[in-house]
Amino acid sequence: MASLPNIGRIGLIGDPVAHSLSPAFQQAAFDVCGIPIRYELLHTPSGELDERMRQLRGGGFSGANVTVPHKEFFFDAVDERSAVAERAGAVNTIICDSGRLYGENTDVFGFAESLRAKDFPFDTSLAIILGAGGAARGVVVALLESDIKRVIVANRTPSRAERLASDLDDPRISICGINESVAIASEACLLINATSIGWNDDQLPIDPIIFSSVDASTLAYDLTYRKTNFLQQAEQHGLQTMDGLAMLVHQGARSFELWTAQPAPVQIMLDAAVTARDSRG
Ligand code: NDP
Repeated sequence: MASLPNIGRIGLIGDPVAHSLSPAFQQAAFDVCGIPIRYELLHTPSGELDERMRQLRGGGFSGANVTVPHKEFFFDAVDERSAVAERAGAVNTIICDSGRLYGENTDVFGFAESLRAKDFPFDTSLAIILGAGGAARGVVVALLESDIKRVIVANRTPSRAERLASDLDDPRISICGINESVAIASEACLLINATSIGWNDDQLPIDPIIFSSVDASTLAYDLTYRKTNFLQQAEQHGLQTMDGLAMLVHQGARSFELWTAQPAPVQIMLDAAVTARDSRG
């Protein structure tokens, strides 16, 4: 009989974690690959982070995903980080190796891969990003690494966009006020909502006039993995739209490959994520 891969515990560290779709699509991947583990929900309030670190170093774990609000904590806490995690300023994937912890940021890969799958023309495109938090920073890194022509970061709090641009220090990045971006929207091929208001049904991060200002071929992308008001309004104006589910699954697929050293069954993971999301309504 073929021996089963020897993989230790793996799960999702965050607070909260109960809502996450990761267990559904990670478990589907482990099951189809014959890896006999349960992807765990590792609910970790801030006061329990030291204990969680001890567990990760203790030898029973192969790795973990990290979600809100601990990506910056693990950025500081791991022993070594990838160059991409350094640029993004956050760690969302941990690989455990003989008591040492290696930190990666697969959100960056996930976002870029979701657009590569659509043959997005990075090198000729201007992207406008609404938001300048942790997710927006990962998106900007992904776009820069994918040879985007130009990126404009527009945030409600201008100082946060200024900090992002100054940290990443790339001549292709510029910043503007959130509603000022309407004036240059006609040049954009990609309009990304990386703010956290996608979960509020009625709110928009920007004046909806932007949807009349952009070209009909513009892709409106919302990192939230549901049909947000932002995406609904974009669709009503005839734009192409994309939600954050593919990004979520591609980041998870990359994490799976780092833990298991085998190719991720991406389509199975995508199908499982869609089923889990739809079953929650
Ligand atoms: P942060 O809290 O770090 O940043 C939130 C951002 O939203 C800030 O730029 C903030 O602006 C802006 N914002 C919040 N409220 C408003 C408002 N009312 N009007 C305008 N702007 C607002 O969050 P993250 O960056 O970590 O996450 C952002 C989103 O991305 C979340 O919805 C998250 O679920 C999603 N995400 C999706 C992933 C995926 O795989 N699909 C991966 C990671 C995140 P300000 O600075 O002015 O406060």
